Amino acid sequence: MLKAMTGVGYPLARASYRDIPTYAAETTAAVDLSDNTNLWGAPPAALRALREAPGRTPARYPDRGDPELSERLASYLGIEPAMVLAGCGSDNLLDAAIRAFADPGDRLALPDPSFAMIPIFARLNGVGPVLVPLRQGMRDLELDPERLVATGARIIYLCSPNNPTGTVLERAGIEYVVDRAPGVVILDAAYAEFAGTDHASLLRRSDRLLIARTMSKAFGLAGLRIGYVAGSPALRAEVARSLGPYMVSAYAERAAVAALQEDVPWVQARVAEVVTNRTRLSEALTRGGRFTVFASGANFLLARPAPSLPGVRDIARQLRDRGIAVRVLPDLPVVGSALRITIGPWPMLAQLLAAVSEVG
Ligand code: PMP
Repeated sequence: MLKAMTGVGYPLARASYRDIPTYAAETTAAVDLSDNTNLWGAPPAALRALREAPGRTPARYPDRGDPELSERLASYLGIEPAMVLAGCGSDNLLDAAIRAFADPGDRLALPDPSFAMIPIFARLNGVGPVLVPLRQGMRDLELDPERLVATGARIIYLCSPNNPTGTVLERAGIEYVVDRAPGVVILDAAYAEFAGTDHASLLRRSDRLLIARTMSKAFGLAGLRIGYVAGSPALRAEVARSLGPYMVSAYAERAAVAALQEDVPWVQARVAEVVTNRTRLSEALTRGGRFTVFASGANFLLARPAPSLPGVRDIARQLRDRGIAVRVLPDLPVVGSALRITIGPWPMLAQLLAAVSEVG
């Protein structure tokens, strides 16, 4: 959740930083459906690796860009290790990529609504965000590739499946942007596993495309903070330069390697459950016209309540009183006000549905 900190102003702060909102995590709830993490937990081999700890003493720095981690990530994506760079969550890499490819005063174009941290990372790097609204298509929300390219922005950011709408961007739209963008295109595929989309072939099409991925969602390792980017070796080297050394701790590295080695079937089984539960929850929320639910390829749904229901803040408060947290999005362009709900094991979603039926 982003919190405006206006008025707090420390006099020695950078003037351009004063009205940039600060991220504040939601307070915990018994059933937390607010942050799109893996609600089944962390995978077994990664947990084992953490218990056993790395063979190396924590008194020394981790290997910079552990070659084994890059190799495992590359083979997971089906690309060369020289194309992969890991960092402290994909947040860390997205921030570094903006710094690597845009000078202060440049612009970054992105769809709206999309990942809320991107305009913040842009502004923290002196880069101006340019918001291009998603369009309401015949069946679904869709990208406006022509307008994104027409901005002439130094960086174009795309997110598929898109947070917070869940929209899976059409391949033709992504290719249009990648083929015509004047600068670098960042494709944030944090939720790719839940859509079954594989963008690795796009990397062969263009050396100006950087794909950002994470082990925080399908892999259940959000607390270890492991993200990675994939792109041409030259592009990767520029992100590495702006990232700085030692962004992945030795412990996170070991757990990530173990997960990529042994936990992929576990991840695939949880993803399959997400897909089943996503359809089931969408149908349940839509029934009786209580919510409009947007088509989602992610591990969350965006649900807009019918006018007969209370406002989203009020609904969220009533859910919280029943021990359930969801993300409140009170003012989204194109969409309006909505709730974003993480898909987890069915008993959690059944609890949500029971609570929703009591909202009034
Ligand atoms: N991209 C998107 C679209 C996200 O939703 C998130 C998590 N909220 C991230 C990146 C960052 O994930 P992490 O830093 O945990 O890898």
